[in-house]
Amino acid sequence: MKVTEHIKNANGKTLFSFEIIPPKKGKNIQDLYDNIDPLMEFNPPFIDVTTSREEYIYIEKQGLLDRKITRMRPGTVGICAAIKHKYDVDTVPHVLCGGFSKEETEYLLVDCHYLGINNVMALRGDAMSHQKYFEAAKGGHMYAKDLVSQIQNLNCGQYLHDVLEVDDKSDFCIGVAGYPEKHIEAPSLQTDLKRLKEKVDAGADYVVTQMFFDNEKYFQFVEAAKKAGINVPIIPGIKPIAVKRHLQLLPQVFKIDLPEDLIQSVESCKDNKQVRQVGVEWAIQQSKELQEAGVPVLHFYSMGKSDNIKTIASALF
Ligand code: FAD
Repeated sequence: MKVTEHIKNANGKTLFSFEIIPPKKGKNIQDLYDNIDPLMEFNPPFIDVTTSREEYIYIEKQGLLDRKITRMRPGTVGICAAIKHKYDVDTVPHVLCGGFSKEETEYLLVDCHYLGINNVMALRGDAMSHQKYFEAAKGGHMYAKDLVSQIQNLNCGQYLHDVLEVDDKSDFCIGVAGYPEKHIEAPSLQTDLKRLKEKVDAGADYVVTQMFFDNEKYFQFVEAAKKAGINVPIIPGIKPIAVKRHLQLLPQVFKIDLPEDLIQSVESCKDNKQVRQVGVEWAIQQSKELQEAGVPVLHFYSMGKSDNIKTIASALF
């Protein structure tokens, strides 16, 4: 079922969902299941599976470093199919512009269609670590909006080179990213909202936000989005702080602000066990307010560990 259908069928009740990251190459998928298992009692109607960009690795050979390019966490579509099969739950593979040609994207979408996966999250991806700015792959898309258009075209039976007679159209429900504190590269929140509107106009059915720690930012964003003519569900993304280093890391990587109260609570912790507890309490408080405000879904960034998400979900669902 589509994410938007799950939302509609919930009749205003807030749903629970979460995002997982594929394991590194060579790791057992059981680790992933061990983290999903404890969360299934909260009936997530869908689970997101991220996609990681390719990266350079350096292999030492006779005193010289050989540079190779690789994907350390492949398998997004395979994991989606495995989870769907094992838990009978809908899955949402994240599909990236970065590192993929349009043809490769088409093949991936065809795989999803055959597997009965009819939700996808369309994202640009970040620049590779050695690049200052994002660069499209050869024959790939530059912006998520263009990827949304490709998926939407496929839903209309239009493949890339359009030489086919199509008798079985895909019907993907398309999610896109939104940024309550604006995307790091956007010159202003208003411009970023204009870009978000373009994604929705191209065919996006719902938005999932970047993590935020101050609900006011989300409420203002939803209000501004409505004013900009964006009328699709906007799902808040919640991440519980788990280690002290998040105080620097999260603002640096995601360009988000942390509220003063949260910073002080984390700083006063003696160890990361206490930090994890503070993160859980903050996320519960945030989620309760969002739930009371009637958000369609509370979507948690699990980052591969589910114990804190389970504690939060137990307090809410
Ligand atoms: P876009 O919507 O393309 O926007 C990127 C930037 O370009 C923005 O600043 C926008 O304002 C600007 N822009 C858009 N259109 C134009 C235009 N026509 N002209 C000029 N500027 C324009 N990353 C991963 O690698 N894997 C994942 O699985 C993943 N999952 C994510 C899930 C969520 C919910 C979120 C919020 C982010 C996720 N990301 C993921 C991170 C995401 O890939 C990065 O934030 C990326 O930098 C931007 O992606 P986007 O889809 O928002 O890009």
